[in-house]
Amino acid sequence: MPHPITFAQAGLQVPDDPIIPFIQGDGIGPEVWAATRQVVDAALWTIYRGRRTIHWSEVLAGQRAYDETGSWLPDETLTSLTAHLIAIKGPLTTPVAGGIRSLNVQLRRELDLYANVRPVRWFPGLPSPLRQPELVSAVIFRENTEDVYAGYEVAADSEEARLLRGLLKATCGWELTDDTGIGLKPISRTASTRLVRAAMRYAVDRKRQRVTLVHKGNIMKYTEGAFRDWGYQVVRDEFADHAVLFDDCDGDPGDRILVQDRIADAMFQDILLSPERHQVIATTNLNGDYLSDALAAQIGGIGVSPGANLNDELGRALYEAVHGTAPDIVGRDLANPTAMLFSAEMLLRRIGWTDAADHIETAVEATIAAGAVTADLAARVDGARPIGTREFTDTVLTHIG
Ligand code: ATP
Repeated sequence: MPHPITFAQAGLQVPDDPIIPFIQGDGIGPEVWAATRQVVDAALWTIYRGRRTIHWSEVLAGQRAYDETGSWLPDETLTSLTAHLIAIKGPLTTPVAGGIRSLNVQLRRELDLYANVRPVRWFPGLPSPLRQPELVSAVIFRENTEDVYAGYEVAADSEEARLLRGLLKATCGWELTDDTGIGLKPISRTASTRLVRAAMRYAVDRKRQRVTLVHKGNIMKYTEGAFRDWGYQVVRDEFADHAVLFDDCDGDPGDRILVQDRIADAMFQDILLSPERHQVIATTNLNGDYLSDALAAQIGGIGVSPGANLNDELGRALYEAVHGTAPDIVGRDLANPTAMLFSAEMLLRRIGWTDAADHIETAVEATIAAGAVTADLAARVDGARPIGTREFTDTVLTHIG
């Protein structure tokens, strides 16, 4: 009988045969998931010889869930994801029918997964527009629950906008013309604090030396600027043994983690000119959206970019590739499973099965370094001959041994 992963004060308790739910997803989801499951199971066998295995448990969401149950996100799926804490998913179609929110957003909300985590790291064989792409090795912690994504927006010609304009004029003296739409950018102390705390915990656990808070506080003092101030406060209050702010040490942190901040526009220069300065990046939702795509483009693009959505405080994590359903290449043996494979590798690290995670990482890197790449990468690598999803997977499996 397999056992569930549990969470206590000491952290995750992982049995040798954990139940891990998976959602295959829509579009190319089933293709990249099939490759991932095969590679992970093979790596576990190579490393643990049956001593440790994952009991994969399928749950439904997206188009398949709708076709089979009439619901895009069935209650049983949410119950299973909540109960099992750690899960992995493929990309999901957002239903076109009016009124239904993106399933990814719904999943994050329902499970309160407040941090979106994206590692970006170059290795040989990946195309990059940079002259020294090997300097890129960072993990982005993007706040997942608020900012302009909170969904508080009203159209310029709506009654709500008219009332709000009147109220803002009467209470704050703000003059907005009659044709102005209004959106809210909520940034709270609670959400900012827990996001920066998660980034700091990661930096401490993984022995990173630098953490950068990215914000646009010079323009938005009480939202973006507050994010920086609350973030710094967490570092001072909770991580003083491990970390120090740039201003508190004149830039010389000794053996502690150096925590600094960057205005978002300067950060976009930095990731091109001096990417080695940034190892862990903590930022608000919208900045994180821009930054993670810009950084992904520097190391091969969305076909190789993994991600996770976390709630550290409840021990929950949902792993996923950054890319979408890619309807243009479905069923054509063209999908690159690397992003999904690396998402599974992150999952294995999370449950402490580091040997297996390292083994998968090495196998995928060796495959790509030898020029065995799918069409999305081959198009940008000189002299590369594209191979299909299945041949790529078989080559990785050969390296897994
Ligand atoms: P969605 O609407 O679900 O977001 P999308 O096609 O608009 O899907 P993505 O899937 O993120 O957005 O990607 C855009 C394009 O990048 C795809 O059309 C596809 O050509 C390519 N692409 C994305 N992921 C992969 C992958 N894993 N392997 C190969 N090509 C990919």
